Formats: sequence, C-alpha cells, structure tokens
Amino acid sequence: MEEKTVVILGVTGSIGTQTVDVISTIGGFRIVGVSFGKNVDFANRIVSAFRIPYYHGNGTLEFGSKLGSIEELLEKTKPDIVVCAIPGIEGVKAAFESLKYTKRLALATKEALVCAGPFFKRMVREKGVELIPVDSEHSAIFQLIEESVEKIVLTASGGAIRDVPKDQIRGLGPREILRHPTWRMGHRITVDSATMVNKLFEVIEAHELFDISYSDIHVMINPSSFIHGIVYLKDGTVKIHAGLPDMRVPIAYALTYPERRYTGRIPEVRDFDMRLIDIEKDRYPIFDYGLKYVVNDLARRVALNAADEVAIEAFLAGRISFGELIDTILYVVDNVSSEIRDLDEVFYVDLIARNLAKEALARIERRVPK
Ligand code: MG
Repeated sequence: MEEKTVVILGVTGSIGTQTVDVISTIGGFRIVGVSFGKNVDFANRIVSAFRIPYYHGNGTLEFGSKLGSIEELLEKTKPDIVVCAIPGIEGVKAAFESLKYTKRLALATKEALVCAGPFFKRMVREKGVELIPVDSEHSAIFQLIEESVEKIVLTASGGAIRDVPKDQIRGLGPREILRHPTWRMGHRITVDSATMVNKLFEVIEAHELFDISYSDIHVMINPSSFIHGIVYLKDGTVKIHAGLPDMRVPIAYALTYPERRYTGRIPEVRDFDMRLIDIEKDRYPIFDYGLKYVVNDLARRVALNAADEVAIEAFLAGRISFGELIDTILYVVDNVSSEIRDLDEVFYVDLIARNLAKEALARIERRVPK
C-alpha cells in the first residue's frame, strides 16, 4: 500500500505530538512537513527523529529544509492530508491555506468554524476538500450521523470547577483550573473547559459541520467523558458513541477514515459511565450567555475567541483571577457589534476585540494593590 503524505501544522502542541505518536504506531503515513511556533528544541527532536524533509517555524533545525511560511510549506509538499492543530485565530489562516493544497483536512483548529464558519465551508465546497473533525465530540457525531436526525447531544466534563462550591469559583487560580478531571490537553483548552468556552465553541462547530440548528444541539455533563456524543433519530433510536478518553483515537480516525487501524485501550465494564447531568447555568456564565447571544452572531463569535485568548494569557500569568477572566470575556463580547462580510473583516473584528480585552485587563490590574 502506498504511503499517504501528511503535513502537521502545530506539531509541538498536544494534538500535534499525539498525531506524530499515532502515525509512528499505525504505519501507512509519512510526515512530509511540519510547522511550529516557539517550541524550537522540541520541534528539532521531532523533525530529526522522523526525518521530516520540510518545516516552517522559528529558529533553524539540524535536519530538514526551512520554508518561509505555512503556505510555502503546503505548496512545496502538497500533502494527501493536512492535520491543522494551530490553536486560536492564528490557526484560522492556516486552515484556509490548507484547503488550497490538500485533499483531506483533519481539523483540530475549531476556530476556523467558530470565527469564519460560513466562509470556511464555502471554500471547503469550492475546493472539494474532505473535512474530517479531530475534536473528539465531533468525531463521534461524524461517525453517528445519518438522515432523519431529531437532535444531538455533545457531552462535557464540566472541567476543573465542576465540583467546586460556587462561592469559591471566582477566586481560583491557574493551578486549580489546570487540573482537568478527564482529558489531558493543552493549557488554553483546559481553561476553556472550566469556563465551558470550549463547549460553546463546540456547539458552534457542530452547527457548522453538520448543519444542525442550535435548538437541536444539546450539551450535558458526562463526568467521566466516556460518552463522546449522542444522536437521536426521529424513530426514537438513540445512537451513543463512547470510549475511554484518548485524543489519539479521533486523530487516527481522521487519518484512516473510512478505515479504522488504530489499536486503543478496550473499556472494562466499570468504565461504562452513562450518567448525563444538566449544566448548572450559574456555574458557567459565559456558556449561558453565549448560547443566547453569541452563537448566532459571527462578530461576537470572533470577539469571544479574541477576548478568551487575551484574558487566558493574563490568567495563566497570574495577573487576574478566574472571576476576572470571566468578567473580561463577557465585557468584550457584550461590547462588540459588527457585520462580517468576508475573512478580512474577521481579522479586523479580532483586532478590535483584542484591544477591548487589553483595556479591560488594564482597568482590572490598576485596581489591584501591588
Ligand atoms: Mg472536544
């Protein structure tokens, strides 16, 4: 069997490294290019170990040829599959560029759909690219979906604050928030699990990917993350996708679809946690606000992502509390209103929202006595 060529954008992140891991165990794929940001030493080890011919990133590596941009990397390699795993607004441009040079896009950068869904989907159709979600919940729904869907359920873990008394939540710092109950992931997405901004993004992602109206997308907590997604059909059938939480499974599926070639851990009977718990709205104020005022408004979706990126940086640096993180995000989203007609306007609104977030943070920090 001929090997499929793969480019991994964001190779040193959590999804990127697990993609490398998957490819080195299942065989049949060859990594022909990678991109990375600041993590040069780690990138150097990956590129040398797998003898990856091309890269784009900071610094100069011992092996491989450096290319000047992600677009150059994609143009040079024209891979069978791109795994796009660059988080945040930075990943949006990369996801769009990927569509020009590949046949299959394994998409982990959910911001492409959150911040630019309509434009992104149009280009996917125009270029005839196969778009496969890497997000575990969306991989689950992708595997379950068929005609005659009544509604879907995305599951959430509830993040690190799920069992914290409500009056203590606002005072929490990075150490507490980074303790995710079930998934091992990057820092930003772990904070996003605690605010449930991540789940809000995932509701939007599901709406865009599967063309399901928001009123038919429900979110419930499954404490163990054993259930990844549920599809209710009109005849009353309920299809449940479950398995032990391991991102390598949806990554492998996005690479090998429609085949399954990954060997994962098989659940024991005791792993079958089918509990579904309603979301406590006052525990996750951004999620509650977002379902009402953000999901249908593209400018606010962009603003939510921008404010979230800026505020999380301040939170992880210990400059603001968890409560102030929530306040900052809500303030920005509430104060952005604009019509977005193309991708350039996405980046313009992103910039406005970032500036608003920085102003809000400066006001908070001035109040705090040194
Ligand atoms: Mg997810």
